[in-house]
Amino acid sequence: MVVLPYGKILRIDLSRSDDTLSHSTYEPIHEEFAKKYLGGRGFGARILFDEVPAKTDPLSPENKLIIATGPLNGLLIPGAGKASFITKSPANGGWADSSIGGHFGTEMRYAGIDVIILEHAARKPSVLVIDDEKVKLIDGSKYWGKGSLETELELKKDLGHDFRIVTIGPAGEKFVTFSCITGDYGRNAGRCGVGAVMGSKNLKAIAIRGSKDIKVHDAKKVRALTEEIIAMFLKNPNLKVWQNYGTMTTVPWAQAAGCMSVRNFSTGIFEHADSIDEKSMREQVAIADRSCFGCPMSCGKFSESKKHGTRIEGPEYETTALLGANCGISSMDDIVHANYLCDELGIDTISAGNIVGFVMECFEKGIITKEEIDGIEANFGNSEAAFELIRKMALKEGVGELLSKGVRAVAAKWGKGSEKFAMQVKNLEWSGYESRGAPGMALSYGTADVGAHHNRAWVIAYEIAQGDKRYSPEGKAEKVIELQHIRPMFDQLGCCRLQWVELGLDLNYYPKFVNAVTGWDFTLADLLKSSERIYNLTRAFNVREGFGRKDDYVPERVLTEPLTEGPAKGHFVSREVYEKLLDHYYELRGWDKNGVPTLKKLEELGLADVAKKIGAE
Ligand code: SF4
Repeated sequence: MVVLPYGKILRIDLSRSDDTLSHSTYEPIHEEFAKKYLGGRGFGARILFDEVPAKTDPLSPENKLIIATGPLNGLLIPGAGKASFITKSPANGGWADSSIGGHFGTEMRYAGIDVIILEHAARKPSVLVIDDEKVKLIDGSKYWGKGSLETELELKKDLGHDFRIVTIGPAGEKFVTFSCITGDYGRNAGRCGVGAVMGSKNLKAIAIRGSKDIKVHDAKKVRALTEEIIAMFLKNPNLKVWQNYGTMTTVPWAQAAGCMSVRNFSTGIFEHADSIDEKSMREQVAIADRSCFGCPMSCGKFSESKKHGTRIEGPEYETTALLGANCGISSMDDIVHANYLCDELGIDTISAGNIVGFVMECFEKGIITKEEIDGIEANFGNSEAAFELIRKMALKEGVGELLSKGVRAVAAKWGKGSEKFAMQVKNLEWSGYESRGAPGMALSYGTADVGAHHNRAWVIAYEIAQGDKRYSPEGKAEKVIELQHIRPMFDQLGCCRLQWVELGLDLNYYPKFVNAVTGWDFTLADLLKSSERIYNLTRAFNVREGFGRKDDYVPERVLTEPLTEGPAKGHFVSREVYEKLLDHYYELRGWDKNGVPTLKKLEELGLADVAKKIGAE
């Protein structure tokens, strides 16, 4: 008999809910569905496509917030502690997903739940409490308006310290388009504004506690495979580096390659890089190491700002690049405090740092005056100005009302050529890699289903390793697609990707784990086919909302403005090169010239019904 490692789907109609949540239902996960979509982002993609009709207002009760984890989560496999938040994006009306590490997803699995579907909206500010089978909504009024971190601490006191909790901050309550969902005091589902959707459902927090076993097909095999890879990791010198510095080792690497995000991506070299590198972090601000469930890499660093008296998990590379170099800020202590402000107020550090950098460039170029930004002297390097802009955008105060809509909206309002350096795609702010010296990375940002997010295909690492060939478009579309198919697999299985990226874990371990927990007979190619299915499904979701080629372009700065310093000096990705890259990318994917998946491709992936719904030919 096949023992499936899956729990149930918990569906909750928040609008009909009372203290006992008698209207919540448990639904089984059928084997055919599980084999096709695997879990996590895959389950979420299918459910969202089927259940949220085209043109639904993302902040209306008709949108759904889905939390999904995967079949490996919770099994002590290194890195298997991830869950995904999936919804229709309040930033652009398209597909949105954002994953979170820590322990929340694992606790879902221990409560016997793989997917939570949140429907409609609670009648008043509420907290959802799931204690194994006991599911209830409690009054959340006393937490409403409070910070994410403060709320988590209070809920732990009120409910019990063994609950795992995710919260939104004031920004999520106010529907800021880049508000996040925070758990474990500083782990974030940061991107795509998932916090705003949670806020629109009047949900301040979700607390979960579970005590069940996860049944697997062959526990001995899972254990043997786990021991095998732990033994390999212990021999890997990179493990120690990661335990010490986490993602911050990316700072010197990006600086050497000239691809740091610096002063609103105007250059790729930061003259103060050695003040915000991994050693500065370790020596000046780190006070403890933190890990997600079952992970020996402990890449999370808990840090303290002595100047401001604040503590937070972080900063990691993206936060340091965007809230530091991108704003011209070279104080590690100030970066920690900016990170704290974003987490407590509930906004994504990447988008926040991108927007602050944009405001600073507009201010220094005279596109806006001090009076237009509430009297703030927004010069690059002014940390106090950055703190104030962060506070205002999260609370929608004064100019913050406009900033809270994202950098695309700000540029549209301020005009005067600022649109050229508004660093975004699909109204998602560009994450921490200057890409004029890396055409593949530009394509990756342009074609990512959620917008300019590095985690869909971190092709820049491959490009930099190519030496002078990094500037060539040759082979880049192929590499972007290859990586875009690997990344969903991790989100489908409920796993972190860093064991593969940084410790070189052979991808073939993943089908071995899947087969050991399910009794199936998957190859790596089968898993990647499922990931391709997901990539086409999320594309189809966007196509149904009116997205197409026009939404896959990168900002003018990337296409027209040569870099003026560093190893990539003189380089940019010309419009002609980018158009050719896009054409080639669509062709390789089996999409038409407008980026719409063809009937043939969707049928090949078992998505014929989806093809009909988007009119694919
Ligand atoms: Fe979490 Fe870091 Fe380990 Fe990934 S590498 S599971 S993010 S601690």
